[in-house]
Order: sequence, then C-alpha cells, then structure tokens
Amino acid sequence: MSETADAGRHRLFFALWPDEATRRGIAKLARAACERPVPTANLHMTLLFLGMQDDAALACFREAAGRVRAAPFDLTLDRLGGFARKRIRWLGCSAPPAALGKLVQALAEAVKVCGFEAEKRPFVPHITLSRKAKNPLGGEPGEVLSWTVREFVLAESEPTPDGVRYRVLDRWKL
Ligand code: ATP
Ligand code: MG
Repeated sequence: MSETADAGRHRLFFALWPDEATRRGIAKLARAACERPVPTANLHMTLLFLGMQDDAALACFREAAGRVRAAPFDLTLDRLGGFARKRIRWLGCSAPPAALGKLVQALAEAVKVCGFEAEKRPFVPHITLSRKAKNPLGGEPGEVLSWTVREFVLAESEPTPDGVRYRVLDRWKL
C-alpha cells in the first residue's frame, strides 16, 4: 500500500444524500434564504458523525452498516433553523418521522461493535444551508419540500483549498 502523510485516515460520517431533484430544490431554497449558501453538491443530512478513523475502523463501519435494517420514510422539509453559536443556518422538519430517529439509533447500535460510542447529545436533524450566516435564525422556508428517503450513505469529508468536499464511499438501501 502506498504511504502518504495521512494514509489510512478518514473523516467519516453517515448521512442522507438527497437525490438530484431534491438537491436542486434544497439549493434553490438555500439561495433564497441565505447570502452564502453552501455548494449544492455538499447538501446532506448527517445521521452519525464518526470523526477521524483508520482503514480498519472504516471496514468495520461498512460491515456494521450492512447489518442495519430500517424502513424508508418521507421527510417534510418545512422549517428553517439556526445554530446561533456556530452561525449555521439549516433546513429541517417541524415533525421528523419516527423512522428517522430509529435509523439513527440503529446505526449508533450497529457501530458499537467497532468500539464507537455515539455522543449522547440529542440528534437534531438538519441540512446545513449556510455557514458564517449573518442571520442564523429560524423561520419558514418559501416552499415546503418533500424528500422520499430510500437509502443512507457513508461519506468521507476531505478538506480542499476551496473548502470541504464530501465523497460518498458506500450506500445502503432502506
Ligand atoms: P467544515 O468543518 O470544513 O466547515 P463540515 O462541518 O461540513 O465543514 P466536517 O466537519 O468534516 O465538514 O463534518 C462533516 C459532517 O459531519 C457535517 O455534516 C458536520 O455538520 C457533521 N459534524 C462535524 N463534526 C461533528 C460533530 N462533532 N458532531 C456531530 N456532527 C458533526
Ligand atoms: Mg465541521
């Protein structure tokens, strides 16, 4: 195997990855709601942040994800929110479906065999629309989007000179 400075190190997270039509819809909403929206290709909903991990852990997370059994669901994206301290503006759901919480729980359970203990903070489902937002407040988006979720992904976050970029490593059907 070739060795580089950060060979075998991956910044990983499980996420929901919008289909192209949903992605375009969210991007449009982001442009309307934020001055500096994140790049369209970056729009996603994190389910479980895994952080910096090596190749062995990555292999374990992959196997664990393959054992997760969860149902597909619809997300009604009808709420703007903010993390004021982090100056993040986001899009989310006023009533997240139980199936979303169950999927997050199932993932957190599954990765325990890899020695990963998920943080205890309550899960706040959100799609980041803007960082360093001037006005990271809540509200209602101009349009309500419906997103039919049929899969989840394992993604890797890679810093680039133009900002962070994400790579989908694997996908699993719900
Ligand atoms: P950047 O950190 O460069 O501004 P980013 O936050 O999108 O960009 P990452 O920090 O690699 O990129 O995070 C990847 C995903 O995981 C994002 O959705 C991010 O919100 C989420 N995330 C990052 N750190 C945590 C954490 N400590 N707890 C929960 N989720 C996190
Ligand atoms: Mg970050």
